Amino acid sequence: MHDNISLLYTLQKCDLKLMDLEEEKGDLPGIVRNLTDRGSEIRSKIDDVQTSMNEHITTREQSTLEAEALNERVEILKKQLYQVRNNKEYDAITKEISEAETGITKKLEEADAHDSKQKDLAISLDDLKQQQDSLKSELGERETELQSVSQVHEEEELHLKDQRDKIAQRISTDMLVIYDRIRRAKDGIAVVPIKRGACGGCYKTVPPQLILLLRKNDVTHFCENCGRILIAEEIAAEVDKVAR
Ligand SMILES: [Zn+2]
Repeated sequence: MHDNISLLYTLQKCDLKLMDLEEEKGDLPGIVRNLTDRGSEIRSKIDDVQTSMNEHITTREQSTLEAEALNERVEILKKQLYQVRNNKEYDAITKEISEAETGITKKLEEADAHDSKQKDLAISLDDLKQQQDSLKSELGERETELQSVSQVHEEEELHLKDQRDKIAQRISTDMLVIYDRIRRAKDGIAVVPIKRGACGGCYKTVPPQLILLLRKNDVTHFCENCGRILIAEEIAAEVDKVAR
C-alpha cells in the first residue's frame, strides 16, 4: 500500500507552521544557549583561579613558617656563640647561622612570590566575577524575553504538535524517515505540488501519465531532478482549502 501523499502534505503544513513559530523566537534560543555555555565556562575558570589562589596561600604560609623556624634557630645559635670553647665550635656555629640566614632570605622571597601571584589571581578573580554578574543579568533578561515570546505561541504550538502527532501516526515509519530526510535537505519542503506540469520545487517537467497517476493519490513519486515527493496540484489545493 502506498502512503497517502495528501497526509504527508498535511504533515508538512504543520511542520512549516511550527517552523514559523520557531522562527519568531528568532535568535533567542541560540542566545540563551550561548550565554548559558559562557556562564559554565566562567564558573569553571573561577573554580580554577580559586584553587590556584588557595595553593599559593598555603605555600606562602608554609614558607613563612619555615622562615620563622629558621629565625628561631638563628637566635638560639647566636646565644650559643657566647658559650663557645674553641675556634672550631665558633666556626661551626657561624657557618650554621650564615646558612640559616640564607635559608630565611630564600623562604621570605618564596613567600613574597606566592603573595604577589595570589594578589594577581585575586584581580583576575574579581574580573571574572564581574563578567559572571553581567552574564547572569543578561541571561536573566534573555530568558524572560524568550519565555514571553514562547508563551504567546504556546497554545498554538501545542495544538500543532498534537495535530502533527495524529497525522504522523497514520504514515508509515519508512515514509516518515524519507520525508524527514528530504525536509532537512530542502529547507523544510519535502512535498511539492505539481504546477503547470512541472515540479513545484525545481520546475522540472513531469510526464503527463505520471500526473494522472498522482491525481489518484496512491503513488509515491519523487521528482527525478530535486528528489522531493510530488503531489498533484488538485490534491494539494484540496488540503490547502481544508487547512485554511
Ligand atoms: Zn523537483
